[in-house]
Order: sequence, then C-alpha cells, then structure tokens
Amino acid sequence: AAGDSRGAENSDAADPERPKVTYIPPSLPEDEDSIFSHYKMGINFDKYDDILVDVSGTNLPAAIMTFEEAKLCESLKNNISRSGYVKPTPVQKYGLPIISAGRDLMACAQTGSGKTAAFLLPILQQLMADGVAASRFSEIQEPEAVIVAPTRELINQIYQEARKFSFGTCVRPVVVYGGVNTGYQMREIEKGCNVLCGTPGRLLDMIGRGKVGLSKVRHLVLDEADRMLDMGFEPDMRRLVGSPGMPSKEERQTLMFSATFPEDIQRLAADFLKVDYLFVAVGV
Ligand code: ADP
Repeated sequence: AAGDSRGAENSDAADPERPKVTYIPPSLPEDEDSIFSHYKMGINFDKYDDILVDVSGTNLPAAIMTFEEAKLCESLKNNISRSGYVKPTPVQKYGLPIISAGRDLMACAQTGSGKTAAFLLPILQQLMADGVAASRFSEIQEPEAVIVAPTRELINQIYQEARKFSFGTCVRPVVVYGGVNTGYQMREIEKGCNVLCGTPGRLLDMIGRGKVGLSKVRHLVLDEADRMLDMGFEPDMRRLVGSPGMPSKEERQTLMFSATFPEDIQRLAADFLKVDYLFVAVGV
C-alpha cells in the first residue's frame, strides 16, 4: 500500500522534489456515537483463552483477569464498555498491570491481539492520575505521551482508539503522519496535545520545526518495531529518543511492541528500555 512506503511517510517539506502536499483531512466528528462507531468487533476473543503467554523479568506484577481488576478510573471504565470490550485479551491481561506499575515492557504480539488498549488504558490512567497540561492554544505543545508506529494506517488506528478511550477526559490526543498538509497538523497540535501519535518522519519534522517539545514526555511507545526496522526507520527512532529534551530512559516509561524478537529488536530494546524491563510474548 502507498501508506507503507517510506516515500509516502516522508514530510512534504523535507523533500523539495516532491509536489507540495495540500491534502487536508475532513475534520472528525466529535460526538460520542461517531467516536465509538469506528470498529466493529469481528474477532472471536474467546479463542484467546488458551493462547500461550511467555513472561519473563523480575518483580512481575500479577496479571489481571477482568478490566475491573485494572483499577481504572470511571471515565476509562465507561469508555471500555462503550467500546464493546467485555474481557481483556492476553496481551491486555499481562500488559495492563505491568504498564500501570510503571515498568518498561517489550511485548511480542501480533496485529489484532489488542495491543493498543493494552498500552493506551494504563497510560491514560497514569496521565489522569498525575495530571496533564490543560488543552489550550500554544505555538509549542509539550505532550506527556508519544506513540510511534510505522504507517499512517497503523497510527490512525491507534489515534482512533485513543479518541475513544480519552473521550470525556482532559486528555487530548493528536495524530501526525506524512502525506497530509503540515500546516493543518501543526494547527491541530497548537490546540493542545497530551498524547502525540505519529509516524517517525512526520514526528521528527514537527519536533524539528519547534512545534513539539519533548521535556514532559513520561511515556514513549514504539509500536510494530520490527516493521519500523524493515522500513528503514531505525535512524529516525534513534533520532527521536536522542532528540533535545527527550527524558532519558531512566526518566521515562518506554514500551516496545513487535511481532517478532530477532537480534536487531533485542538490541533496540537494550538501548531504549531500562535494564529491568519485562518481556511478554503472546502466542508465539
Ligand atoms: P492491535 O493493536 O494488537 O493491532 P487492536 O488493539 O487494534 O489490535 O485490536 C484489534 C480489534 O479488536 C480492534 O477493533 C479493537 O477495538 C478490538 N479489541 C481490542 N481489545 C478488545 C477486547 N478486550 N474486547 C473486545 N474488542 C477488543
């Protein structure tokens, strides 16, 4: 798909050879029904009950069996039921308490296993408990969480889930990716930005333009890390974690997701995660 190619992800401003991109997406409806109508459940999650889960690391928080046990605030619980989620998937059962405990995590799980809620719910819970910057106009925004995924399709799915789970809360998610008018995305950021979702190139572009400061980042998520490597995004990922203001790995929570765990991903995990990170592999 076009969205999977490096060229499509690239910033329109970065490459003078490319025609200027002027596409401005239609503004998304803000009402509850539209926000929660995005996904139809098509997956039989019951089959997940006998899936094998491999967990390793020290001081492992106990897995949860129900969303009730996750100790989430009322608005998050409401948004979970509005989303039609009845019981957690394996990556949610193990990932949620690990992330809530503030631990770093490397999780191997396939697309469609429920990773997104596994990291969004505990991050939103922590943001609401610790407090976030109020959404108001500012030329520079300082998100408390940054989520990176390799393609516009993936990052948009994450953003749609973030809109659902943050509905009715003080947390404002924003999405940026290549192929869309940069000015439009800058204006979206300027309105307030607590959770910034982006593809690597466009995220770095926004940081380079001084639209986004990283010093408040408490949670960093790198989703589909193996695909990011395949697509040549390793230098971008390294540039992001090394960007001015980005808190060191000791001072932030870092979560990495990947379908596979080959040597180059293990190397990235060693570089980006704290030494006592936990490892969870679901059904591999
Ligand atoms: P991944 O991030 O692993 O690719 P998603 O988190 O997008 O997968 O989940 C795949 C689909 O399943 C989405 O439509 C999502 O809304 C839905 N889903 C995720 N977790 C649950 C759950 N516990 N119960 C019901 N539906 C779920």
